[in-house]
Formats: sequence, structure tokens, C-alpha cells
Amino acid sequence: MGKVFQTYLDSDRVYTCTSCHAHLASHDDIISKTFTGRHGRAYLFNFVENVSQGQKEDRVLMTGLHTVCDIHCNVCQTVVGWKYLFAFEESQKYKEGKYVVEKTRIAKEANWS
Ligand SMILES: [Zn+2]
Repeated sequence: MGKVFQTYLDSDRVYTCTSCHAHLASHDDIISKTFTGRHGRAYLFNFVENVSQGQKEDRVLMTGLHTVCDIHCNVCQTVVGWKYLFAFEESQKYKEGKYVVEKTRIAKEANWS
């Protein structure tokens, strides 16, 4: 494997990957903390760093049919959640382009204040 380029988020409050500690998201980019992932609680983020997108697929979620793709950590390849690409329901359109990250896959960085 070649060198993995990682981005470091410039924020006081960063969520990192629980497996490899790569920076994944900033607390400032949280839209909602009340989402449900495949492994329990999940957060909705505006933006997630250091992830790549998997195969696009249609998935029926609690709020209806969506086109999504899994997102996995660029460094350790763990699937951390998914990205909403398209929402079929008008009321769910705000999620398009946003990311759901499983709470069990992220940790607060140590210097969290
Ligand atoms: Zn990782």
C-alpha cells in the first residue's frame, strides 16, 4: 500500500476514527445527534474528512428510500457510516450530501475542551 495522505482538522473539538485515530469530523459540523445507524446512535455531519465512498445503492431507511453509499476511513478502511446522495422524500432532501457516522466508530480526541 502506498502512503496514505491524511488531513488534520483545525478544530479544538475533533472526532477521530476509533481504530486508527485519523481525524474524521469536527464538532462544529454536527447537524444532528439523534440519528440511528446500523450499530445504534449516529451523528449527522455536514462534512467528514479522510473518508472514501463505496458503491452507490438504494437503501430503505426509517425515513424512506434514499440513495446512499458507505463511507470508509481512508487510513484503516473501517466503514464508519454512510453518505446520503439522494432522498426520494421531499422532507428528507436536507440530508443530501450529508454524512451519517456511527457513534461507536468515532471518539472525541483527547484534548477536547
Ligand atoms: Zn481509521
